[in-house]
Amino acid sequence: MITKPNQPLYDVVVVGGGAAGMFAAGCSAENGDRVILLEKNVRLGVKLGLTGHGRCNITNSGDRESFISSYGRNGRFLYRALTEFSNRDIILFLERYGVKVITEENGKVFPADGKSETVVKTFQQYIEDNNVHVRFKTRVESVLVEQEGDMKKVAGVNLSGGGTIRSGKVILSTGGLSYPGTGSSGDGYEMAKALGHTIVPLNPALVSLETEESFVKDLQGVPLYGLEVSFYSNEKKICAGKGDMMFTHFGISGPVVLDISGIIAVSLSKNEHVEASLNLMPGKNRPELEGILLEELKINNNKFLSNALSRLLPKSFVPVFLEYAGIPGNIKCHQISRSERNKIAGMFADFRIKIKRTRPIKEAMITKGGVSLKEINPYTMESMLVKGLYFCGEVIDIDGKTGGYNLQAAFSTAYLAAKH
Ligand SMILES: Cc1cc2nc3c(=O)[nH]c(=O)nc-3n(C[C@H](O)[C@H](O)[C@H](O)COP(=O)(O)OP(=O)(O)OC[C@H]3O[C@@H](n4cnc5c(N)ncnc54)[C@H](O)[C@@H]3O)c2cc1C
Repeated sequence: MITKPNQPLYDVVVVGGGAAGMFAAGCSAENGDRVILLEKNVRLGVKLGLTGHGRCNITNSGDRESFISSYGRNGRFLYRALTEFSNRDIILFLERYGVKVITEENGKVFPADGKSETVVKTFQQYIEDNNVHVRFKTRVESVLVEQEGDMKKVAGVNLSGGGTIRSGKVILSTGGLSYPGTGSSGDGYEMAKALGHTIVPLNPALVSLETEESFVKDLQGVPLYGLEVSFYSNEKKICAGKGDMMFTHFGISGPVVLDISGIIAVSLSKNEHVEASLNLMPGKNRPELEGILLEELKINNNKFLSNALSRLLPKSFVPVFLEYAGIPGNIKCHQISRSERNKIAGMFADFRIKIKRTRPIKEAMITKGGVSLKEINPYTMESMLVKGLYFCGEVIDIDGKTGGYNLQAAFSTAYLAAKH
């Protein structure tokens, strides 16, 4: 390669070799740019290798609208990115490298061999094929900028321990704050903030919740299927979801909890009082619930109440349920008073649990918050404050539900950043 003195060796510097950074580097180089990818770990895609319990739920088969609604209020920002590089495109990309995919329940897409390492290797191959220069054990400390008229312009990056790599374009793909052992320790937020970017407060998302109630410990591993969970903050309903939940040794988890946990984390960070209301039999109104209970009590007329309820609720949950209702389980069904019946039917639709806190961000699957979307051009992923600075992946204030939405957001934003 022939370069003039002072001419940067690279057209693009990509900071962070996770899902977004690897894809951005590969796309950029495929477009003809000279690209260097800087990664502080000794290998690429460490977190990607952990995804989907080692199976990598790479994307979802849903349509664009279902994607956009999966990122909550900020989903609209991704409209362009998802249009230019969709779920279909990432599947085609993998197929180009001989990786077949399968689609499972709820539209979740996985590599057919069930190995996230296959996906990691594919991205590694992609960047190798396109001659991306990769430097490991290289931590970027800050982005170097120059003043150009009224605006700042990227001039390169400064490395920890000294040294500068000059380039007119830098893509920040440093990830979030969760699972810091994978390298995502929030460096990108600091770099962006130093350049004047607003960082929307960082909270854990897709994270389990700890409860005040200690009975959960005894129910560890007990699932509740197809229930509706509503969350109240200072007694005002803030969100709800339908699906499966599970008790853990410290609280509650499962898809329905994880998917709305980011909203709960924000309320808890403001010291609000949060409660979960479990509707154990969604879709039934009060008279219907009373009817279901009455029927069961009739059938089990001479049996204990706990026996009758075990036909409606998981057996191990029944003692807790009855303790909360203040009704002994060893009374016979025909002895239940009308007011006790009312109480039980009411609790079918509204079983309350007090939420103490989320599990720590290091255990969260994703970070809620990040570089403010108001300062990023959604058509290019370029910073509106610093020319030549681009963002992609989890460092941006985007977080999606479980189901492959977060990786797709990383690939779609990486594609746009690389293209521009
Ligand atoms: C256990 C787990 C399971 C998950 N499963 C799924 C799933 O199945 N499907 C899904 O869609 N999403 C899943 N996610 C979320 C998904 O992994 C993330 O959304 C995705 O990895 C974000 O990609 P990224 O490239 O932005 O960040 P990361 O993958 O975190 O990559 C960031 C990279 O930047 C490097 N870096 C950071 N700072 C610097 C620096 N200063 N200098 C140089 N390098 C730096 C880091 O070492 C790291 O390699 C899961 C997350 C977890 C934790």
